[in-house]
Amino acid sequence: MSFFNVPHNFFRDSSSFVPQSMIDTLFDYGKFLQDVDAHGIAPSVPGSQKTVAIIGAGISGLICAYELSRIQNINVKVYEMNDQSDSVAGRMYSIHNPDAGYNDKIFEMGCMRFPPTSYSLFHYLNKFNIQTTPNFPDPGKVPTTIYYENSAYNWNPKDPAPGPFTQIAKDFSTILKDLIGDPSVLDTDNPRLIDYWSIYQSDPSTINLTALTNSWQSLITAYKDVTFYEAIFTLSQQLASPWKQEDMNAFGALGVGSGGFGPLYEVNFLEILRIMVNGWENGQEFVVSGISSLATNIISSLPSNVSIKYSTQITGITKVSAAGVTYYQLIGNNGVQGLNFDAVIVATTTPAMEYMGLTMPNQILGKSFPSLLSSDVQVALRNLHLMSSSKLFILTKTKFWYLTDNLPYNIQTDEALRGLYCLDYDPTSSEQPNTEGYGVVLVSYVWGDDSTRLQALTANQRYNIFLERLKIIDNDFATQLENNVISLSTMECIDWQSTAGIYGAFKLNYPGQEQANSCAFFQYQQEEQGLFIAGDSVSYAGGWMEGAITTALNAACGVARYLNGDVIAGSPLEIVSTTYNYS
Ligand SMILES: Cc1cc2nc3c(=O)[nH]c(=O)nc-3n(C[C@H](O)[C@H](O)[C@H](O)COP(=O)(O)OP(=O)(O)OC[C@H]3O[C@@H](n4cnc5c(N)ncnc54)[C@H](O)[C@@H]3O)c2cc1C
Repeated sequence: MSFFNVPHNFFRDSSSFVPQSMIDTLFDYGKFLQDVDAHGIAPSVPGSQKTVAIIGAGISGLICAYELSRIQNINVKVYEMNDQSDSVAGRMYSIHNPDAGYNDKIFEMGCMRFPPTSYSLFHYLNKFNIQTTPNFPDPGKVPTTIYYENSAYNWNPKDPAPGPFTQIAKDFSTILKDLIGDPSVLDTDNPRLIDYWSIYQSDPSTINLTALTNSWQSLITAYKDVTFYEAIFTLSQQLASPWKQEDMNAFGALGVGSGGFGPLYEVNFLEILRIMVNGWENGQEFVVSGISSLATNIISSLPSNVSIKYSTQITGITKVSAAGVTYYQLIGNNGVQGLNFDAVIVATTTPAMEYMGLTMPNQILGKSFPSLLSSDVQVALRNLHLMSSSKLFILTKTKFWYLTDNLPYNIQTDEALRGLYCLDYDPTSSEQPNTEGYGVVLVSYVWGDDSTRLQALTANQRYNIFLERLKIIDNDFATQLENNVISLSTMECIDWQSTAGIYGAFKLNYPGQEQANSCAFFQYQQEEQGLFIAGDSVSYAGGWMEGAITTALNAACGVARYLNGDVIAGSPLEIVSTTYNYS
């Protein structure tokens, strides 16, 4: 997802606390994956050969397939509605633009930057030797221009955010530190969440665990029904200079100078706290070969007990019990699939699950079957909130931002394009950038209302509007961009909410949806059911690959246990679902 940078140096200096898990599960998926590498999720499942269906070949479906295929006696069949492609695996969508003599230039239409606290993602990136680089041009990390209410401010790397954002960034940092603690200083006299977490990580005793979970529980209780707007406005009233409406507007438009919070104002404040405490905005890296290379690598490593059927949209799932045998059947756009399945994993977004009929008693081929998911989980599938998001990329003949003095590499503005990033896919090992080869400009990255508003405009119309705005924001930059564009036909634009099979960009709960989220997340622990759900939209990391991968591991463990496999000790099946009360 990645919306914004945390306040300058909030988690950055070397003494900062770094979480090893997610606050809602406190489960170390990195350690679990080391065990899985050594032993598999389970050695085998007993009895006759079992067949598991997986719906969706995004990262969560592919991880399920990869890990289940390593269990003896399991065959896996993956169904994906799209055609086979090297560049698209759901929201892992990397368009490759060849550049003779240099690396391909990538347009990451979906996920793009990855925090090192995504331990399970980095486990698989490392396994397949996929190179990442820390050179993502985040605002304030590279020369940045902020354009707010018709005034431009230059932001030199490593300086505090300029103009009105200096104070806003300081204030936001104060608010966060008062609320959750300061990651760079352990405070044992007046501990807050991060202090308790740091103490627990160095000494995971029961008493320290209780102190930590009590601390997160008190934040859950205080904020589970509160919007980001309401929480931040209320908390800011305790500052020496309480925020007024104009501060909320500036914070909404440009956050702490590095990307606006306005489209997030309506979401539950707990979702924002998760981003902060889990370290998801810190030290993000990008993948030089494009993130979809992870999918390509996984697919080419799948053994012969896995097959993927593309261009097959599943429209219904039926559980059939006959002559003492229970199995699942899938209905697709091309009719009933020929196989009977022992278990099914649905690894899609929640709206896609809803459109498969998972929120209703099944009416398949004129017959009625009971619902496959509990009513609590159905509520989650119907209601959990997905943000919208749009991106527009273009290819340039040169990395012109390096070649002309005083051009920004990043522009953040309250005008329609919102966030612009200049991307260099030829990283060097030295501090010096590689000025040769084509450039990639992410001309606009927006989400929420800012995305919905653009939806009626074609890519060309958007580009023209953005260019006109850029001429006012920084005419030199706009001129260089215009002169360097290879061709308008290189432009690529996406609105995720109108993308078939996805229907939204990423889950961010509204107030009041925490209990539903918890039911959806822990669905994999329901032993009696052979149908499991996975994907970032049923996770505690909506909008992050980490959410997709960890829920995939949960579902794979659920399947192995359902098929009577001997799941290794220390698996996510042992996460205690009642640690927190979200209702
Ligand atoms: C704009 C954007 C920016 C992002 N930025 C980041 C980031 O910077 N860092 C990060 O870590 N994460 C980011 N993410 C999130 C990341 O992309 C997702 O968490 C991850 O890709 C989700 O994987 P998934 O397998 O859960 O779902 P998906 O990728 O949605 O895969 C689901 C698959 O199921 C298929 N499908 C759906 N319905 C059916 C059906 N009925 N039958 C058959 N197949 C079906 C779909 O075609 C799709 O291929 C971003 C996402 C977006 C959209």
